[in-house]
Amino acid sequence: MASGSYRNGGPKLSAKLDRQHSAVYSTPKASAKSRPPATPATASGLRRSGAGNPASTPAGNKGDAGVPGRVRVAVRLRPRNAEELVADADFADCVELQPELKRLKLRKNNWDSETYEFDEVLTEFASQKRVYEVVAKPVVESVLEGYNGTVMAYGQTGTGKTFTLGMLGEEDSAARGIMVRAMEDILADISADTDSVSVSYLQLYMETVQDLLVPGNDNIAIVEDPKTGDVSLPGATIVEIRDQRSFVELLRLGEAHRFAANTKLNTESSRSHAILMVHVKRSVKGRHDAEPGLPTENGNASRLVSSLRPPIVRKSKLVVVDLAGSERIDKSGSEGHTLEEAKSINLSLSALGKCINALAENSPHVPFRDSKLTRLLRDSFGGTARTSLVVTIGPSPRHRGETASTIMFGQRAMKVENMVKLKEEFDYKSLCRRLDIEIDKLIAANERQQKDFEDEVERIREEAQSRIAEAERNYMNSLENERSKYQKDYMESIKTLEKKWRMNQQISSNDKTTVEHDQCLEKTCNIEGSTASKSEEIAGVRQLLQNERLLQESTEEEVNDLKGQVLHWKNLEAAASAEIIKLRKLQDNEANQKQKLEEEITILKGQLVQLSIETDEVCGEDWASMHFLCTEFKILILQTRSRFDRGGSGKIVTGLDSLMSQARHSQIRDSGNGPKASIAKLFEQVGLQKILSLLESEDADIRIHAVKVVANLAAEEANQEKIVEAGGLTSLLMLLKSSEDETVHRVAAGAIANLAMNETNQELIMDQGGISLLSMTAADAEDPQTLRMVAGAVANLCGNDKLQTRLRVEGGIKALLGMVRCGHPDVLAQVARGIANFAKCESRASIQGNKVGKSLLIEDGALPWIVKNANNEAAPIRRHIELALCHLAQHEVNAKDMISEGALWELVRISRDCSREDIRTLARRILTSSPTFQSELRRLRIEY
Ligand code: ADP
Ligand code: MG
Repeated sequence: MASGSYRNGGPKLSAKLDRQHSAVYSTPKASAKSRPPATPATASGLRRSGAGNPASTPAGNKGDAGVPGRVRVAVRLRPRNAEELVADADFADCVELQPELKRLKLRKNNWDSETYEFDEVLTEFASQKRVYEVVAKPVVESVLEGYNGTVMAYGQTGTGKTFTLGMLGEEDSAARGIMVRAMEDILADISADTDSVSVSYLQLYMETVQDLLVPGNDNIAIVEDPKTGDVSLPGATIVEIRDQRSFVELLRLGEAHRFAANTKLNTESSRSHAILMVHVKRSVKGRHDAEPGLPTENGNASRLVSSLRPPIVRKSKLVVVDLAGSERIDKSGSEGHTLEEAKSINLSLSALGKCINALAENSPHVPFRDSKLTRLLRDSFGGTARTSLVVTIGPSPRHRGETASTIMFGQRAMKVENMVKLKEEFDYKSLCRRLDIEIDKLIAANERQQKDFEDEVERIREEAQSRIAEAERNYMNSLENERSKYQKDYMESIKTLEKKWRMNQQISSNDKTTVEHDQCLEKTCNIEGSTASKSEEIAGVRQLLQNERLLQESTEEEVNDLKGQVLHWKNLEAAASAEIIKLRKLQDNEANQKQKLEEEITILKGQLVQLSIETDEVCGEDWASMHFLCTEFKILILQTRSRFDRGGSGKIVTGLDSLMSQARHSQIRDSGNGPKASIAKLFEQVGLQKILSLLESEDADIRIHAVKVVANLAAEEANQEKIVEAGGLTSLLMLLKSSEDETVHRVAAGAIANLAMNETNQELIMDQGGISLLSMTAADAEDPQTLRMVAGAVANLCGNDKLQTRLRVEGGIKALLGMVRCGHPDVLAQVARGIANFAKCESRASIQGNKVGKSLLIEDGALPWIVKNANNEAAPIRRHIELALCHLAQHEVNAKDMISEGALWELVRISRDCSREDIRTLARRILTSSPTFQSELRRLRIEY
């Protein structure tokens, strides 16, 4: 198998290569026999080009086809099966294939999808023949040329790995899979006299290699030659193959042994890897005859030399691996595996992923030694060997997550450069859209506020003006009134005076005529009389003048009064103007504030776009950090909005403000080290403690966001220990108790379910009263997703052998059974998983002698629900329940209750109709070996 330097080529490598090696790098499209040997230099050059962009070098392309070390990856879509035709009838497939462009579109939602390129895209209509030709034939041709090669199938259980590789095609020859077709090509190409083919057929389960040809042989050692790096299995049975029929027989025998072995261990075949090894040994002829320097002029001498030379034999091997189902059993905790089991089952698969990553990134160290599978493949994978990977996927949108991770595995295998990773996990485009909408909303709200404000200012101004105008009008009117009144009075008094004066004149002329007669006589007397009337008149005029003065004074007073009023109105006007100026200032401030916020939003948008770009460059493990950052952006937008809502005057000081600023600074600070480094550091810099403290924030929005951030972090195994150490588990449990919000309950329960994958955490959850908190949450919950999370958490606890009794005493089983009221299939599947987990642990405890008496599940009344759902139409529910029934039935002490509750019929049905052969066989074995079941079946006259 290739080492780091081997993959990188270089002078050492070229020197190591012999001519035989070089020959294989020529195009596989050329016939194996007519292929000319290439030079060593070409070979090392080609090897380097393995890192080329797969999109530009599609499979089958002559120029690219000879590239070794580059894993060729095809994706194959299984047609909808009967169940999906019904269950997904109203939904589109989660993928759309464009085989002519070698592209696959993974639907994210109704309006968006991600596109991935593969070397080959095989639709649900692709024939087995075509699949063989594009996936395996080039590898088989390489093997016939003397090179090791590997064909692997990777994908979720049920997507067609075994269909692609292992179909025997006895009834329908068109259905023959890759193993059968490869052997046909090999047998057709070799010479029966000089060459030989032999096979081993093995199973790898929980890091143990078992021989599928001789079942007793079940712990086979892997041996590596330190000099050549060749891998061999000296303990494995090797059978020489002479014809196709005996090979098919051998495959059938291997399959039968595989079922038997899995039934005995009570495991499923989907959890094990099946490995077919085909060893090809060919003698090389003809080359020495053409070698220069031999004495050709003398035919006899040449023949003599040839006959003395030892024959050259070329050995190679083809490894066909039907990998274990790629579904994440450690995450789902399915079928009651303890964490240790889950780790062990997945070890080989995850080690394979790590090796592919290391190879793809040209890392100097490839961790082949980490698992049996990678040790086995060491000399047949990458490097000088040709490797083909077919990733199988199903169409159901319900398994979109698994399908996406299968596609990402395939993409990684093709080389990192062509990978679109985080974009798929997290929907950045829609986040961008959402932010745009938020910004538009903020801008519109601000515009409205500004318009209202301007209207208000205008209204105040108009009101002030109309008041001033009215005051002026009033003043002018009253002034005019006073003036005319005064004038009228004045005229009248003048008239009165004139009248009086005229009267006086008349009186004085009459007096003149009379006085001329008696002038002397009456002179004294008249003078006295006239003096008296004059003084009366003067007094009258004086009085009039006095009145005039008074009138004038009162008018003046009134005028003063009016002047005072005018002054008052003028003051009012000045105050209104001052207010207008103040309001204008305020408006200016608002505008400044708005501009600043808009600038801030623009910066945020820029950072978001930057993040989106970065997602193209960082690897899968950074998902949580990226998601975290995005959540932070959401929080920031919320804060920005609330600052807007509060008129932009006050700054809200929360923990998140400082957290955000740290987050942003860390972005800026680290920008020189590349995005990957900055995101990896972010979590550490922000500090888990700070995030956890926000779980207790008084602001409900912030609380929800914080719990979401914690849940996202808890989804990553690497963070779980840190979260628990920092008290996160306790805080999450407290949230179940203290919060009334269903979203908080749902997200917190999800996080707890994730943390509950780990055995230590399971005990901590129990110690902190987790069961009663989860039961309480379940009792209050209405949202099926909340119930699903709670049931998932309890189901994980059910898989812990040590917690069985406590779990039951604290009401765990009752809580599980209580949740079936919701009826949602997702919830029922989790309940069923919990019951299966519990039943499995119980069964194990009974076998080990740690438990006596009836199952606690039966004691707690779970049996009627189990029986009712044993044939549930949803496959996950049915599968868990069928397993649970088998576990319960394995113990004679449960048999009577099972019979009385009708479980016997379900067992009979399972033994006949279950789609999984291993469970079918297990049920049959239980029925035939249990005396209680046997006697009941005899009583009912049922043949068994
Ligand atoms: P896996 O090995 O990945 O668990 P299987 O090969 O057992 O999956 O396939 C599951 C079921 O789907 C089988 O019944 C198989 O016959 C069917 N199947 C898989 N791939 C195809 C296909 N391309 N066309 C038709 N049926 C398929
Ligand atoms: Mg299979």
